[in-house]
Amino acid sequence: MKICVLPGDGIGPEIVAEAVRVLNALDLPFELEEALLGGCAVDATGHPYPEATQKLALAADAILLGAVGGPQWDALPREQRPERGLLGIRKQLGLFANLRPAILYPELANASTLKPEVVSGLDILIVRELTGDIYFGQPRGIERRVVDGKNQRFGFNTMHYTESEIQRIGRVAFESARKRNKKLCSIDKMNVLETTQLWRDVMNELAPEYPDVELSHMLVDNAAMQLVKAPKQFDVMVTGNMFGDILSDEASMLTGSIGMLPSASLDENGKGMYEPCHGSAPDIAGQGVANPLATILSVAMMLRYTFSMEEAAQRIEGAVKKVLAQGFRTGDIYEPGTHKVGTKAMGDAVLAAL
Ligand code: NAD
Repeated sequence: MKICVLPGDGIGPEIVAEAVRVLNALDLPFELEEALLGGCAVDATGHPYPEATQKLALAADAILLGAVGGPQWDALPREQRPERGLLGIRKQLGLFANLRPAILYPELANASTLKPEVVSGLDILIVRELTGDIYFGQPRGIERRVVDGKNQRFGFNTMHYTESEIQRIGRVAFESARKRNKKLCSIDKMNVLETTQLWRDVMNELAPEYPDVELSHMLVDNAAMQLVKAPKQFDVMVTGNMFGDILSDEASMLTGSIGMLPSASLDENGKGMYEPCHGSAPDIAGQGVANPLATILSVAMMLRYTFSMEEAAQRIEGAVKKVLAQGFRTGDIYEPGTHKVGTKAMGDAVLAAL
């Protein structure tokens, strides 16, 4: 069982080191190999997703990623930016299904900016399509054109989904709902966008295959509102790449602690890339203060979704719950009366709780 480890940039190496310690402590027969992705790869090779990394990623069963990016690479041509490496690996490995749980641990209820009664006990899962939609659609670009009688710059992108792309993400979402509270809400903008009318039609066509799951639909603008107003009405939400990008960040912020949220991106055979929802946090990189729990919880998702090791996954999740109950907090989730620790000490606490 091979795991490709991509620490990335900023706080990536610090948080991934703790997640790897937790993984090693489980004493499972994994083979770990490290490679470069993102800004560090640009610096070393000139490319954000170099060939050596591609080779390792393709051969691995799962990938553990920290985060990529940072201000020092923002001025590079688009093709060389760290984020291109991320889009490249998702596309090459066919990681079309992004699963992002947003869970509010009772100990962290005060971290949310929403009233505790609105968010306490929140446990939702956002399933986002990751390899299609307007983010990849062609044609795209910025050109000079004569529009309205004026020669001016013209920006354009193309939104599209095929029926089969919608079916495969739909199935992941229905299956996920089946393992939870059996409620699935599909998000679209069918009143304006034809692509998402097709999305709604295909979701409705899939529904009879999952009679035990209750399917509902919501327009994306309303969904953005409902997530803030009454988020506990949702169990699983499924949506396209662009809406999912925005809604999953909104959902993660309901919990108030982006340093706590893991994610999984899966292909059709269960191979996956696992990473925290947050970015490379350049503002705190190198200080040893970043919260490693999202990355540690990403390892739990890896054990569950790629390696079908439910018991080991629960061991890690149980250990994280325990350290929170014991009062350990990194700076991002600290409140008076709790015990403030750095990245490594948080890793130590999880290892002890294991
Ligand atoms: P960010 O998530 O990196 O940081 C936002 C804020 O949250 C910062 O104040 C940061 O200090 C804090 N934060 C994030 N993770 C934390 C953790 N584990 N512990 C404690 N605090 C944490 O988002 P940003 O500032 O918008 O982006 C920074 C860089 O990360 C950019 O270059 C961006 O492109 C990149 N990025 C990468 C990914 C990814 O690799 N998947 C995702 C988002 C952003």
